[in-house]
Amino acid sequence: MPELYIDGQWVAAAAKGRHQVVNPFDASVITEVDDGDATDVDLAVRAARRAFDSGEWSGLPTRERADVLYRVHEFLLRDQEEIARTETLDTGKTLTEARIDIEDVANCFRYFAEAAGKDAGRVVDVGPGVLSRVVYYPVGVCALIAPWNYPLLQASWKVAPALAAGNTFVLKPSEVTPLSTVHLLRLIAEAGAPPGVANLVLGQGSRVGAAMTAHPDVDLVSFTGGLETGRRIMATAAEDVKKIALELGGKNPNVIFDDADFDAALDYALDAAFLHSGQVCSAGSRLIVQEGIHDRFVEALADRAARIRLGNGLEPETESGPLSSGEHRAKVERYLEIARKEGARFACGGARPKDPALQRGFFLQPTVLADCDRSMRVVQEEIFGPVVTVERFRTEEQALRLANDTRYGLAGGVWTSEASRAQRFADGLRHGTVWINDFHPYVPQAEWGGFGRSGIGRELGPSGLHEYQESKHIYQNLTPAPSGWFKG
Ligand code: NAD
Repeated sequence: MPELYIDGQWVAAAAKGRHQVVNPFDASVITEVDDGDATDVDLAVRAARRAFDSGEWSGLPTRERADVLYRVHEFLLRDQEEIARTETLDTGKTLTEARIDIEDVANCFRYFAEAAGKDAGRVVDVGPGVLSRVVYYPVGVCALIAPWNYPLLQASWKVAPALAAGNTFVLKPSEVTPLSTVHLLRLIAEAGAPPGVANLVLGQGSRVGAAMTAHPDVDLVSFTGGLETGRRIMATAAEDVKKIALELGGKNPNVIFDDADFDAALDYALDAAFLHSGQVCSAGSRLIVQEGIHDRFVEALADRAARIRLGNGLEPETESGPLSSGEHRAKVERYLEIARKEGARFACGGARPKDPALQRGFFLQPTVLADCDRSMRVVQEEIFGPVVTVERFRTEEQALRLANDTRYGLAGGVWTSEASRAQRFADGLRHGTVWINDFHPYVPQAEWGGFGRSGIGRELGPSGLHEYQESKHIYQNLTPAPSGWFKG
């Protein structure tokens, strides 16, 4: 079955390219999908342009657009198990996590269905005789580019607000994990989005993603992925001064004070670092631990990390799956080499697991790198694998300096039982999301995004909708009369 969805039709890639999708658990081929190119992108953008300019979507009452989103929410829950299994096969993550992802995707559609009708703009009080309003309009044709770690979740943070605001779009999932996104497009069609509103082009970033970013008829590019790709996209989008939204990487500090609840902090430090094998933009990959508990904490963390059960995400006893691809594992292994050269102490892990059942997949042992300091590349750069670095601190001031000593600024956590310190520290952290005595939760009602090189703009929350809107100030003089400014 063809997997490109353009102007309401499932079509094959124009150049008939095909691409294998691989299960990272055992390197087996799950299926082959179409591999598009610039010709497909052009067709999809033209369809999205026509659909947008016709007003058949943007001109609908918000309530009717919201109804389509509510139906997508309902269909996602109906198909949750099937999509979750697809996501597990494609990414290697556990089925438990994939089920939660799909529920979150459904909630994202519901949130933006609700949010769409809530903000009808505002009236500005200019004084008598003037009606002044700020109103929101859709931006136009959106190019949406998603990564492989949370394929459907990251796509939904773009698709749902783009649709809710009245835009049309062309979506490209990662070539590594395209399958759940194909399912989503079926659901959007089933929910009644008119032809041309939602378009899907599968393919390589360097061809399809680059063509989407460069297309002159695209008004906005929203991208989630790595820093280098983000830079390239920003440079290309600059040509037409397209609007851009970038959700890039992170090197996220997780700061543990001596007075923290030791067991809770330890448990969450494991989640923060090793959930989905650390392939999480907001992973707590940089532990910063106060000296009073440091040694005991590192020892306990390494002990628990070494006991994480690696395996097939479809098996209920599996706690963590493989990395997404052989290429990505090789990148993480290069960082392990760098860590050795930089003098980090391997408290656990550092190699591929010995278990014969895991030899065909792209597994790596969960790794704790102790005795690290901020001069090291492994502390400063995003590794995006099951690797956590540990630094030691003495004072609160020193901890804050360390936690903010990063070019990124996506998320950070702080663990302490002293409420005033928790608030003070959270205020001081220069990161887009801050957790106190927790790690990782997010909700669709609250903004997500980063300071510094973690990106530009915000997804989710009211700002996540505004990313897909242009504001317009309409100023009406209700009692026009000559101004008398020029006297002649
Ligand atoms: P990536 O940058 O390699 O690819 C992301 C997407 O961009 C893919 O669809 C890819 O095909 C496409 N792409 C590649 N080259 C392109 C080009 N020249 N032009 C246009 N598109 C192109 O990223 P990845 O490896 O898929 O994802 C991992 C990265 O994503 C990590 O850095 C992670 O931190 C980041 N991420 C960030 C968030 C966030 O919310 N901030 C969430 C998830 C992932």
